[in-house]
Amino acid sequence: MDVGFIGLGSMGSAIAENLLKAGHRLTVWNRSPGPAERLAARGARAVRDPADALRGEATFSMLANDAAIRSVGLHGPLLESASSGLIHANLSTISPGFARELAAAHAEQGLRYVASPVFGRPDVAASGKLTLALGGRSVDVDALRPAFRAIAQTTVIVGEAPEAANLFKLAGNFLLATAIESLGEAIALLRKGGLDPAIFLDAMTERSFAGDVYRGYGARMVKEQSEPAGFALKHCRKDVNLAIDAGRELAVPLPLARLVGANFDEAMARGLGDKDVAALGGLIAAKAGLPTREPLLSAA
Ligand code: NAP
Repeated sequence: MDVGFIGLGSMGSAIAENLLKAGHRLTVWNRSPGPAERLAARGARAVRDPADALRGEATFSMLANDAAIRSVGLHGPLLESASSGLIHANLSTISPGFARELAAAHAEQGLRYVASPVFGRPDVAASGKLTLALGGRSVDVDALRPAFRAIAQTTVIVGEAPEAANLFKLAGNFLLATAIESLGEAIALLRKGGLDPAIFLDAMTERSFAGDVYRGYGARMVKEQSEPAGFALKHCRKDVNLAIDAGRELAVPLPLARLVGANFDEAMARGLGDKDVAALGGLIAAKAGLPTREPLLSAA
């Protein structure tokens, strides 16, 4: 396929590279030029104007948040010069309300929009094994299949309404954030009690809590490894806040999300936003009076 790609951060770069490897013709744009230049060296066409990434059959975008999408103009102005009938697969984790607005703005220009938020960290993206939650018309989803095959192992069709896929994704990241918080608390409890959390983690993840989230984040917390930031704490905090907003809109009390959200706020205040979300474990440990390797937390 002739594909454009907008937003080449940790996730976008890995996903775009798999599209290239699978033989798709790729035109890439990123706010800072470095990532686009790196992909150009592998055969992509790097462009200076994001509008030039909207001239093929499909465009993928993987920007940080709602504000980044607005600042690029994908909510309106940039769409005016897009190829007619273009399908935009928006991979970012954004609010359901904004997804609805984006879908309407695309429809107004005769463009097609598929909400395609992803599950999996950058290493999973690099291996082409993401899980995609899809919200869009089945004819549009089917047209994107050749590209989806290059980046995902699993696709879940959540519904025709784009915002459904974004709500699905937020529910997933609410689970993730609360799992990270509870892992951090359990590990702090064991460390304070003089026990080795690594042995605990091995036992727990053998069966009862098997899976990438407990294994991966548990290991990062035990090793106090918060760099590189595969999934930045600031992005996970955004998702918790978006889940709280969605709960408010749908009148669903989410007391746990609010509790975890307050800890994310504290982590942000301590300057941990650009660290991996596993750094939340460091904050929990510091609050328990445990020593931590994180210099930003020495005064916690
Ligand atoms: P990232 O590494 O921080 O990349 C963010 C991207 O957004 C970069 O391309 C950045 O451009 C761009 N951007 C930010 N603000 C912008 C603005 N105002 N104008 C234009 N471009 C802007 O983040 P990521 O980890 O790839 O995550 C991207 C999205 O995927 C987020 O919605 C995140 O929640 C979601 N997600 C992440 C993971 C994960 O494990 N990392 C997993 C699933 C979903 P520059 O390079 O110029 O800064």
